[in-house]
Amino acid sequence: MAAESSAHRADAPSSRPRPHTRRQPWILTYHSVTDPSDDPYGITVSPDRLDEQLSWLRSRRLTGVGVAELLRAGDAGRRGLVGLTFDDGYADFLGEALPVLREHGFRATVFVLPGRPGGVNEWDPLGPRKPLLSHDDVRRVAAAGMEVGSHGLYHRDLTALPDEELRRETARSRELIGELTGSLPEGFCYPYGILDRRVTEAARSAGYGYACALAPGPLLSRFALPRTHISQADRGVRLWAKDLRHGLRQVAAPGAGARVAAPVRTGGPR
Ligand SMILES: [Zn+2]
Repeated sequence: MAAESSAHRADAPSSRPRPHTRRQPWILTYHSVTDPSDDPYGITVSPDRLDEQLSWLRSRRLTGVGVAELLRAGDAGRRGLVGLTFDDGYADFLGEALPVLREHGFRATVFVLPGRPGGVNEWDPLGPRKPLLSHDDVRRVAAAGMEVGSHGLYHRDLTALPDEELRRETARSRELIGELTGSLPEGFCYPYGILDRRVTEAARSAGYGYACALAPGPLLSRFALPRTHISQADRGVRLWAKDLRHGLRQVAAPGAGARVAAPVRTGGPR
């Protein structure tokens, strides 16, 4: 967990909706939706809390959509939209998250791991082990009208991989998802939010149209989109603070042309 989870105690600010006019899209990051009682990485929200959070977005006159849809809307059309993303492709998406999304009329992007069909989150040493979507499940997610994107094949730190393995994680995962769903995915998401310029170039040359990070710093671009980690603790005032912080980050963010020597690993948990 990083700075995103710092608590904000204050009296509730006005709940009066205000128009969302920021240029950078606001994209929220979820992972698993189920009972969060055993959750050392802070990646799980309960279905009830997800419902509460989506209700809050609606009270702000925001509609949740997948990232490709959000980007296609352009600066003007983006007002009133918020990107919703679910990383790692947990199997609970179908049974727990999808019904809540449907209830609100929202859509989302699910970033899956086609190298681990029906597997578990072995990359999290503390567990708990959570089942991942099978290939059939990925088809169901797409058939339900959700955007399916790639999180790579196996959930590895892409900055540590030699070129050929990096190419497989980006390009081969795209082909596999295309074979499953019938359309090549537009979106990629960097495991752990770790990226550098070589990795963003690999995502671009694999044919993706955008890629999601967490806190990309100077690499901020269409291939390193910032996102806001959402946890079980996030309710009205904390969501309001995160929304506000996202708006401020846009003001402070440098352009995409800056150089960085080291990989960026400043984001949320996974
Ligand atoms: Zn992940």
